[in-house]
Amino acid sequence: MTANIINGKSISEDIRGNIAEEVQRLAKKGFCPGLAVVLVGEDPASQVYVRNKEKACHDLGFYSEVHRIPESSSEEEVLALVDKLNRQDNIHGILVQLPLPKDIDEKAVLNAIAVEKDVDGFHPINVGNLVIGDDSLLPCTPAGVIELIRRTGIDMAGKHAVVIGRSNIVGKPVSLLLQRENATVTMCHSRTSNMKELTQMADILVVAIGRAKMIDASYIKPGSVVIDVGMNRLDNGKLAGDVDYDSAKEVAGYITPVPGGVGPMTITMLMKNTLLASKRLGGLD
Ligand code: NAP
Repeated sequence: MTANIINGKSISEDIRGNIAEEVQRLAKKGFCPGLAVVLVGEDPASQVYVRNKEKACHDLGFYSEVHRIPESSSEEEVLALVDKLNRQDNIHGILVQLPLPKDIDEKAVLNAIAVEKDVDGFHPINVGNLVIGDDSLLPCTPAGVIELIRRTGIDMAGKHAVVIGRSNIVGKPVSLLLQRENATVTMCHSRTSNMKELTQMADILVVAIGRAKMIDASYIKPGSVVIDVGMNRLDNGKLAGDVDYDSAKEVAGYITPVPGGVGPMTITMLMKNTLLASKRLGGLD
């Protein structure tokens, strides 16, 4: 059996189409969602991510501001910029591109973003709301993972989901969102002793490790849904996931490719969060 491919690129385009239509409707009421991105320093990968976010804003009709400030900026300067953006009425979402230079306390900066403008979903209050099941802005990559599973048409309720990886930005929030969908969730990490036994029982397997092609067909339950969050640059310059796609696709029922799976969903979910935040702040929700 060869798995159905979950095409993150086309699902993402579909969602972006809906967002663009809603932005046009809001424009008729004289309202425009606004996103501010703060980039400190000149990290090449961060520059690419920020350019992609700027382009998404442009394509979907959002107002955007990109604040590129030097690597030598002090923590106080970054905090002052965040404070200014918190008070700016035309900005509804604020994203500080990580990683920050080592002399700046990342936590202090993320905690300074107004909760209602925290479109990355990393503020402790948004994280806390996710844990207790209250309404919150959801972290983008985990929200994208859930949307990809939803698009297979498979009901997550009652399924056994296994998540490999327990990071704050991917593994932990994915596991909470799967529980919210009424899946029964098992978390694996570097200290899990019987990982293969557990993954072989997974109806849904989400892999977020950061090790190229580690999860091959032998880990996968036949017919299951496999979501590969991994993005690893190989020596030959190509991008590879954490799943060995070629072998896994012969066993899984549904699988995401890398690139073209989870990757395109992250910025799309950022735009969705910014639209949601703007409607709430503008009293249009
Ligand atoms: P991370 O913070 O490094 O966390 C990796 C997790 O994997 C940790 O919980 C670690 O366990 C676990 N792990 C490491 N080796 C393992 C092993 N041999 N067996 C089982 N578990 C193991 O990474 P991350 O930020 O979550 O990112 C994971 C991957 O997703 C990376 O490839 C990253 O580039 C990618 N990513 C993609 C997107 C996207 O938009 N597509 C967004 C974010 C991240 P311990 O906790 O025990 O150390």
